[in-house]
Amino acid sequence: MLKLIVCMKQVPMVSELPWDSRTGTLKRELAEGMMNPACRHALEAALHLKHRCGAHITALTMGPPMAEEILREAAAMGADRGILLSDPRMAGADTFVTSHTLARAIEKECADFDLILCGCYTSDSETAQVGPQLAEELNIPGVAYAENLELRGHCLRIQRESDDFLETLEMDLPGLVTLTTRSFSPRYPSLGGLQDAFDQADILCLTADDLQLEEEKTGLKASPTKILKVFSPAAEKKNIVLKGAVKKVTDALFAQFGDRLGAAMGKDMKTHDHDSGETEISGEEEA
Ligand SMILES: Cc1cc2nc3c(=O)[nH]c(=O)nc-3n(C[C@H](O)[C@H](O)[C@H](O)COP(=O)(O)OP(=O)(O)OC[C@H]3O[C@@H](n4cnc5c(N)ncnc54)[C@H](O)[C@@H]3O)c2cc1C
Repeated sequence: MLKLIVCMKQVPMVSELPWDSRTGTLKRELAEGMMNPACRHALEAALHLKHRCGAHITALTMGPPMAEEILREAAAMGADRGILLSDPRMAGADTFVTSHTLARAIEKECADFDLILCGCYTSDSETAQVGPQLAEELNIPGVAYAENLELRGHCLRIQRESDDFLETLEMDLPGLVTLTTRSFSPRYPSLGGLQDAFDQADILCLTADDLQLEEEKTGLKASPTKILKVFSPAAEKKNIVLKGAVKKVTDALFAQFGDRLGAAMGKDMKTHDHDSGETEISGEEEA
């Protein structure tokens, strides 16, 4: 039977979260979590393969203890097993250390996998690096931004859109694919399924010690990415209102913005005849 692993991340349900200015990471504990949208599509792709060819699906996540919720939701959607990697020492990992940790767990718990499915990116950090880095860690082929999958024996046919072209690729398994949110519309788990998943589904929890992770390859300290500063750029927009007869307004417009209009249209617009006699111009700063 085909052995599938779906890597999924719990992300905050809101986009605006406070930052820890010391570490440059999000204070995730302040928001409710949800399954990252692209991971939901990856799980749906796995469920399609299961329906067509028969498969065993392991849902895998690294995160705080509350990340267990998305594994239970995955069970309610049809995953057969959930593995949670959770340990304070794993916190603050960048994509390099995240993929290293996921790879060690896969080698320990499901080394005989056929296919790993990931979301193409997350809604909270959006680096899109974990999938490709995980393929590198495990030394298997990887294809990112897949939209359609078709299994032919032990070969996976993948379709993806790239620079306005539709590419068809083939990959021998074992391999890894990251899925976009354009296909495999995720199903809703039934209420009964959710109830069973929260009451009954066994979730395997593994710590850094269980995975025998070396300290120098675990968590924030081991992460080579240092976020120096995170801030929301101040929106500086100036509204200018031109009033008066059409010709006067047009003239004033060219007088003020001829340079920029010319640059946008590839023409010299400064030569336009203008006379701003009766035109009223008022400007106000907007935050
Ligand atoms: C603003 C900001 C900027 C950041 N910039 C960087 C950066 O430039 N480089 C860097 O290395 N880190 C960066 N990080 C850290 C990053 O959040 C973590 O590395 C995170 O654990 C994984 O990265 P991601 O969410 O971007 O995953 P992505 O690579 O976008 O995720 C793709 C897929 O990988 C899988 N996946 C990702 N995380 C997990 C997980 N924890 N468990 C299971 N599967 C998972 C899922 O299938 C997911 O859909 C940044 C964080 C923030 C908040």
